[in-house]
Amino acid sequence: MIQRPICVSCRCEMNCTKNCYLLIEMSATGIYGVWKSDLYTCADCGAMSVTGIAGSPIVGPDAPPELRIEVAKKEIAAIERDVADSKYFDAGFVPWTVVWGGRHERNSNEPEIMADPAYSFLYPKVTA
Ligand SMILES: [Zn+2]
Repeated sequence: MIQRPICVSCRCEMNCTKNCYLLIEMSATGIYGVWKSDLYTCADCGAMSVTGIAGSPIVGPDAPPELRIEVAKKEIAAIERDVADSKYFDAGFVPWTVVWGGRHERNSNEPEIMADPAYSFLYPKVTA
């Protein structure tokens, strides 16, 4: 059984390029959950896919919103240190990503949340 994602464009299996890839799941009101996952990359075209998401989040909707923000910041800082210390990753590699619970939530709420200073750490490319 093939366990790895397949790149449709290149017709090949993708390689796991980062374990413990951080996934921050957003909802209409902010961070919904913080997860560990695996990042897969196509060696031919560079397409990336996140899969292997852990069975339970590092922090989830049961925790207060402030705690979810605090945990996300801590996890990002720790994982960025790991990547900075490794020769394996190219400069500019982002070892985490933000995903929205739904297309419509993203369209209607992303600009508002991006403008909230409490969440500016999630969008380094925008605020830098
Ligand atoms: Zn490909």
